[in-house]
Amino acid sequence: MNQNECSHSANLLLAGPYTKSPQAHHARGSELRIILVGKTGTGKSATGNSILGKQAFESRLSAQPLTKTCSTCRGSWGEREVVVIDTPDMFSGKDPSESLYKEVQRGYLLSAPGPHVLLLVTQLGRFTTEDQQAVQRVKEIFGEDAMRHTIVLFTRKEDLKGGSLKDYIHGSDNKALSELLAACGGRVCAFNNRAKGSDRDEQVKELMVLIESLVMARRGDHYTNRLYSLVTGSECGAVQSEERAQHFKGSFIKYMETQRRCTTTAKANCLRDALLHTVMSIVLCAQLFTRLLILLFRVLHRMCNFFCRLPFNMCSLFFSLLLIIPQKLVIIFRKAIRLGCKSPIS
Ligand code: GDP
Ligand code: MG
Repeated sequence: MNQNECSHSANLLLAGPYTKSPQAHHARGSELRIILVGKTGTGKSATGNSILGKQAFESRLSAQPLTKTCSTCRGSWGEREVVVIDTPDMFSGKDPSESLYKEVQRGYLLSAPGPHVLLLVTQLGRFTTEDQQAVQRVKEIFGEDAMRHTIVLFTRKEDLKGGSLKDYIHGSDNKALSELLAACGGRVCAFNNRAKGSDRDEQVKELMVLIESLVMARRGDHYTNRLYSLVTGSECGAVQSEERAQHFKGSFIKYMETQRRCTTTAKANCLRDALLHTVMSIVLCAQLFTRLLILLFRVLHRMCNFFCRLPFNMCSLFFSLLLIIPQKLVIIFRKAIRLGCKSPIS
């Protein structure tokens, strides 16, 4: 992978986000934009470095979030120019703040006109409540539809100890993780960000193949939404930077609320479906139980009938035999007497 110029500053873009530049857009035509999202500390920056093959983003163990702001760095993969956008601590469950609004705008600007892939980074074996909150925040910031362009990337692949990622996923009973993987169309891969040389290249290649197939499935289209239209559009070209920021903030707050409502509605629909499913199951079980009861009752009824009639039938058989036996005895005696009469008198 070639190492192209790395830019950690979005100031240039921030200076003129609403100024449409056809040249700039043309230059961005062949690039592949990858935005790293997910909980802080999972290895987003380290993954960015692995993809680019250089120390583009600061990454180390730290008690405090190390990445302070959205930044971007360029590299290449074959013919493709790859742009990686790293993000700071903006996917936690904290209430939205001024700094979040600023970072979201910055992230939008750096990934405009929209990322081809959202790489949702999470750590193997640790899909926690915070990770779920991060997924929710990703949906709120970029929209529910962004999941159609999302790949889940597990870091600390070395913890698999040679085992397969598929087996790990199949063996996991984490419902939230299963739901996430289903929403992302099962697109997953794993990285050991400490890997070097051919091991590193191999895992980057695996990811790139996955990305290429996703991009092909989307007919080369990158992800976009109305906030991207806002940051790339020329509608507010002449207004001051502060006003632009306020305009973006207002639109983003509305967007976030809409996304939250969508999630709440989806959850309510899910709950309604589950309730309907349960009621249907109960009705079906009740129907089955009633049929079984009726069958049992019929069998019991027949058995009762049989056993009630049994003494009567026995008695009737007994009395019949009582009548038949003397009759037969009389017949036998008569025959014997007749035979006695016919025999010649000696
Ligand atoms: P970020 O906050 O999501 O950007 O996380 P960082 O990239 O700063 O990583 C946090 C810590 O996790 C750093 O100490 C990394 O070296 C470590 N880390 C990231 N990925 C891996 C990995 O695949 N394996 C191991 N062993 N450590 C990793
Ligand atoms: Mg980081």
